[in-house]
Amino acid sequence: MSEKLGDYVWHNGKFIAWEDAKIHIMSHVIHYGSSVFDGIRVYDTHLGPAVFRLKDHIKRLKESAQIYRMDVNWTIDEMCQACVDTVKKNKLAACYIRPVVFRGYGPFGVNPLKNPLETYIATWEWGAYLGSEALEQGVNVCFSSWNRLAPNSLPALAKAGSNYMNSQLIKMEAILNGYVEGIALDSHGYISEGSGENIFIIKNGTILTPPLSASILPGITRDTVIYLCKELNYNIKEVNIPREHIYRADEAFFTGTAAEITPIRSVDKINIGNGKRGSITAVIQENFFKIFTGQTKVPEDWLTPIK
Ligand code: PMP
Repeated sequence: MSEKLGDYVWHNGKFIAWEDAKIHIMSHVIHYGSSVFDGIRVYDTHLGPAVFRLKDHIKRLKESAQIYRMDVNWTIDEMCQACVDTVKKNKLAACYIRPVVFRGYGPFGVNPLKNPLETYIATWEWGAYLGSEALEQGVNVCFSSWNRLAPNSLPALAKAGSNYMNSQLIKMEAILNGYVEGIALDSHGYISEGSGENIFIIKNGTILTPPLSASILPGITRDTVIYLCKELNYNIKEVNIPREHIYRADEAFFTGTAAEITPIRSVDKINIGNGKRGSITAVIQENFFKIFTGQTKVPEDWLTPIK
């Protein structure tokens, strides 16, 4: 791996060496996908290294666990502190934090209720997720032949490891066909999201994003962008978006903790707008990154300094 890894991993309240963060192959999670996780970024900010929207990420993790009847031993505050401690222990500044909760080694078979819950937090340095030029130049993407999770099949609002089997189908198909990312429709045929990103499109100055009912993950970057759009007095709507609307959009972009705000320059080889980062996208991106210099005012608890 080219990423700089943390030396230590937090496991059920204790630090262990990165190399020792291993599990048995007969752990429940390996066979039945029984994990929930989150992904959080630490930015170099005017306050020093600071975690972005830590509490919101940990709340989402706890909600993902709740959906799957996982009774996590740690409170939200304890887990937030554990994330901060892990970054500190690893002497990392800007980095990515990955808390994961899963069903471990125990009885074999589908019933997970008697398998122990394991909680780990790992950290590493992670650059631009969709390529180093993506933030400025945008990415070429396609629609996927795979739909996002149908309602009442796998819960899309949970950030569960098993959902990422669907994401992997979307991602592999896109990459093998020469695209950076795929956009999936929901089971009703409306635009849902990318394999690891929410999506926004802009037409005639109005910004649209699919609602939570479109089988999307409730993205924290998505929520941040909605907040910024309101602050900037843009007209923003959460609505069902038919697929063809994106081909005639002026601008489009992905949001995600890993992808940040990545412009989409073409979909299925049809240029979006002029095939470059759009002007409103650029303003939103700029305001997003200015959160980390203190120039964009956001609620105080959105930045947790690593003291
Ligand atoms: N959708 C999916 C499927 C994702 O994996 C992610 C990344 N966590 C997102 C959306 C974006 O969510 P967030 O902004 O909270 O990272």
